[in-house]
Amino acid sequence: MKVRYLNLSVDDQDHKARLLAALEKVFTHGTIILGPEVEAFEQKVAAACGRRYAVGLSSGTDALYIALRTLGIGPGDEVITTPLSWIATLNAIVIAGATPVFADTGTDLNIDAGRIEGLITSRTKAIVPVHYTGQMCDMDRINQIAEKYGLDVIEDAAQSFMASQSGRPAGSFGKLACFSMNAMKVYHSYGEAGAVATDDEAHRDKMIALRYGGTINREDCHYPSLNFRLHTLQAALLLVEHDRINGIINKRREIAQLYSKALSDIVECPVENPGNRHIYYSYTIQTDSRNELQAYLTERGIENKIQHPILMPYHTAYRGKYQLSIPEAERIQQRILSIPNHEKLKDEEIDYVISSIRQFFEAKRA
Ligand SMILES: *Cc1c(COP(=O)(O)O)cnc(C)c1O
Repeated sequence: MKVRYLNLSVDDQDHKARLLAALEKVFTHGTIILGPEVEAFEQKVAAACGRRYAVGLSSGTDALYIALRTLGIGPGDEVITTPLSWIATLNAIVIAGATPVFADTGTDLNIDAGRIEGLITSRTKAIVPVHYTGQMCDMDRINQIAEKYGLDVIEDAAQSFMASQSGRPAGSFGKLACFSMNAMKVYHSYGEAGAVATDDEAHRDKMIALRYGGTINREDCHYPSLNFRLHTLQAALLLVEHDRINGIINKRREIAQLYSKALSDIVECPVENPGNRHIYYSYTIQTDSRNELQAYLTERGIENKIQHPILMPYHTAYRGKYQLSIPEAERIQQRILSIPNHEKLKDEEIDYVISSIRQFFEAKRA
């Protein structure tokens, strides 16, 4: 049997017809750049995360960069974030000109809020918590710290669209909140897409300028910037996908429950923190036998991923540049493995993943 980690082909014929019809509508109205679908998508994103505005952008990476620029964060400023994320988080901070500072992670793979305060200096301007794997960081605590020291919070909610904490959605806690809708994400386009959400009209307007060469009325450049516009065609597809998102998240949550029930005696399964709704962008287990287990699953035809195999400050571009005390992230990074949990998995595939992991540990014990 072969179990795919992700399957982006569109097999459901009704769904395919809806996607094609949405594209056809764009070809007919012809507003290929910043068409009405972009605005409709922005409204859906803002509504889903309880904000007044959202600005559609070319990617989640660009969303993070635009968010930092919008708040005027740049050279001389320090930004506290987690070491465990896709490199986009760090690249955005560095390319905005700011200096990253890394707070260690907790066992839930998110930034350990208890480690933030000790890293704050007179230069600290912002905290960028990453809601990793689909579960939110401790946002009440992070916002309390931010308030006490007058810092901005920018949520990297790239993996957590429609996750929630105490009934409040991801993207509703920070001054700005960034999303990615790249093809791998739970709420996804068929290419690249992203968005930033905010309640502040001035920030919304600045993001709209930064999105297109820093121009006001698409004419006069007020802030040097590049081109970060979201394609109307992707927005049209995202509107169709939006109708399915709840069903997809529910299915992922069901799969997570099956895995956790069947595996928690042999590996560390993801734990949903009290009050959280985890959307399971990934189902990431932790085990000391990670490398052997990974090889075994791959051999059995089960695709899997280490997300991510290199902590951000250890990428070649950044190695040795920062003072680090991140022992927990280093420990976790050796133990994490994400197993297939996409909504198209069949029952027999889920059973096969479970029985393979159990067999691996039984053989090891014998
Ligand atoms: C995917 C992702 C990004 C970047 O989004 P892109 O749309 O791929 O540019 C940023 N941060 C995290 C945590 C992500 O998972």
